[in-house]
Amino acid sequence: MDFGIKGKKAIVCAASKGLGKGCAQALAREGVDVTICARGAEALNVTAKELASAGVKVTPVVCDVTTEAGRKALLAACPNPDILINNAGGPPPGDFKGFSLDDWRKAVEGNMITPIALIHATVYGMMDRGFGRIVNITSASIKHPIAALELSNGARLGLTGAVAVVARKAVKSNVTINGILPGPFDTDRLRGTTQKMAEARKVALSVVEAERKAAVPAGRFGSAEEFGAVVAFLCSAHAGYITGQNLLIDGGGYPGSL
Ligand code: NAP
Repeated sequence: MDFGIKGKKAIVCAASKGLGKGCAQALAREGVDVTICARGAEALNVTAKELASAGVKVTPVVCDVTTEAGRKALLAACPNPDILINNAGGPPPGDFKGFSLDDWRKAVEGNMITPIALIHATVYGMMDRGFGRIVNITSASIKHPIAALELSNGARLGLTGAVAVVARKAVKSNVTINGILPGPFDTDRLRGTTQKMAEARKVALSVVEAERKAAVPAGRFGSAEEFGAVVAFLCSAHAGYITGQNLLIDGGGYPGSL
């Protein structure tokens, strides 16, 4: 299927590795020029080279997207994107009792204010031009809160509510805003949390990994490639009638019928 987005321009945040990289790869394969960012230059430049092999223009921007200066640099590199993929690292785990107000402020800044700021800066230009696709990478935790991730549960649910109305206003101009809610995906982040769990329980990494996979009805973790392919479809010319939705990609992990 031709996705109909060849020649479009995308900003993909937090994309040197993991889910963001999967999105950038899938969009590049569809002929989209991509502006990608991450804080670490080394991995970002390696990823930029890989993406360029698809024959598209790739602009790497070394920045922390959760800062105003970082977002300014990103938007300066791609002022009028047709596609925006919002992503950043997730807040740290912990317990409600131990979180300070500053922990909450950081989580809200990184996973709620940052995507709102980028949407605000880009959505009206998209509407004027008559095409736009915005995807927020959130988490399955907005459907079923994860015990150790209260900072993430709160900030991401806040974002979801914050964009629900503008998603329905923008669609008349062929601009959509949707959330993608990943369950467990095989990325550095997941490998890191699995390692910590194994260390805490003093068991082998392979034991915790097998348990975590067994807890997913699909019996495995998702891959960044399949994640990117779904996001690319949501960004395609064919997906203009899908907006304000929050799609779980979790191998069947969410137990509800709806
Ligand atoms: P990952 O493999 O650790 O990759 C994170 C990417 O984001 C890296 O390229 C990293 O590069 C970049 N990054 C992190 N913080 C950044 C910042 N402030 N500014 C710019 N770039 C930044 O993580 P992932 O698994 O792809 O996760 C991506 C998001 O999805 C996270 O918010 C995570 O909580 C969420 N999520 C993941 C899963 C999962 O199973 N993987 C499930 C649910 C939700 P630098 O470190 O160099 O900046």
